Amino acid sequence: MVRVVVIGAGVVGSAVAAGLTRRGAQVTVLEARTPGSGTTSTTMAWVNANNKTPKAYFDLNHAAVWAHRQLAGDWFFPTGMLEYAVSAEHKELLAARVERLLGMGYPVERVTARMALTLEPDLVPPPAGTEYVFFPGEGHVHALRLLGRLLGEARDRGATVECGAEVTAIDTTPAGAKVTLADGRTFVCDVVVTCAGRWTQGVAALAGLTVPMLDPAVSGRVTNGFLVTTSPVPARLSRFLTTTGLNLRPDGGGRLLLHSLHLDDLADDPAADVPGAVLDEIMGLLPNVLRGTEGATVERAVVGCRAMPGDGLTVAGFADAGRRVYTVATHSGITLAPLLMDEVAGELFGEESALLAAFRPGRFTDGTAGPAPTPARRPGQQ
Ligand SMILES: Cc1cc2nc3c(=O)[nH]c(=O)nc-3n(C[C@H](O)[C@H](O)[C@H](O)COP(=O)(O)OP(=O)(O)OC[C@H]3O[C@@H](n4cnc5c(N)ncnc54)[C@H](O)[C@@H]3O)c2cc1C
Repeated sequence: MVRVVVIGAGVVGSAVAAGLTRRGAQVTVLEARTPGSGTTSTTMAWVNANNKTPKAYFDLNHAAVWAHRQLAGDWFFPTGMLEYAVSAEHKELLAARVERLLGMGYPVERVTARMALTLEPDLVPPPAGTEYVFFPGEGHVHALRLLGRLLGEARDRGATVECGAEVTAIDTTPAGAKVTLADGRTFVCDVVVTCAGRWTQGVAALAGLTVPMLDPAVSGRVTNGFLVTTSPVPARLSRFLTTTGLNLRPDGGGRLLLHSLHLDDLADDPAADVPGAVLDEIMGLLPNVLRGTEGATVERAVVGCRAMPGDGLTVAGFADAGRRVYTVATHSGITLAPLLMDEVAGELFGEESALLAAFRPGRFTDGTAGPAPTPARRPGQQ
């Protein structure tokens, strides 16, 4: 039986652990804090391939959208995404994106104002001339419930999950690997899979490997975003909604989760509280978008930090010549998790994944990695 240590119990590590146990691996998950305490607990969790480039990254995310539909359960809301554009700039970007996505076979429907109001009856009608587009294949998840589903399956199939288990050393030999924790405990295995999210660079370095990640302390809005959860409100919202100034979705129990891309310029300190002026502005936008939200208060406000590899694209593959350390790190990990579950597990069992072929960690050492992503995040991105 193949023995695998998975480092990190975010949504990605939990998915990989589940996929490996499906194939009969003996899995130990080592989590420095508690499952889901990393980026997985601060995310819009919109399942989409909407604004993903280049083509290989779009294909990966598109396949993952369908993997969510196959995994399907009470954590997943396959209600699509409704986007409307009011400003000239947003209309232009949306029109170009729609053309590109239609050309790639992605489900896209241009809708009228009336149809948009049928989908979301509490929309505050935007001005005449607004453009509406519905993306019926998309959805959103409750991230911790998805994680619980994946880690639960891994546990049911025999995985051990150790919390408070910070990995401080990874030693490889031709015969296997040894992982050491801060408390001195050691775990011997055949393969280590690092799923350490935004901590991947440091964890890979423990094995002498190079996987650059953007540092949220210096990268500003490329990695950081303000997320605001409202108190429960008596408003009807069934799906992810993208508008020119505000993105929002239902967050359970009548709560809404809000994100305003243009304010992320101010999210340069991931350790700081969300400034009061940012909260006022985000909450001030809400009643102009959705009726029934007057009087909503802030229940939770955080700076979320994306797990962003140096060139912005997924990293998945063996990082060492001896094939003892496999690294997975990615933004859009919520979208990708159900796909990575099968694709990564398959690779550990010798099945090369065509979808992952463009995302090998070796690009950072052989000079073929692209430049760092630009700071501009646009509507249709998270
Ligand atoms: C503002 C924002 C909006 C987002 N919106 C979306 C979206 O709409 N759709 C989407 O698909 N994605 C979105 N994302 C991204 C998505 O949330 C992440 O890609 C995903 O949660 C990453 O999961 P992960 O398991 O890789 O990382 P994490 O959840 O961070 O898990 C990594 C785990 O590794 C553990 N760890 C680290 N170092 C060690 C160590 N030495 N030893 C043991 N354990 C260790 C950590 O404690 C952590 O629990 C968003 C992110 C942000 C910040």
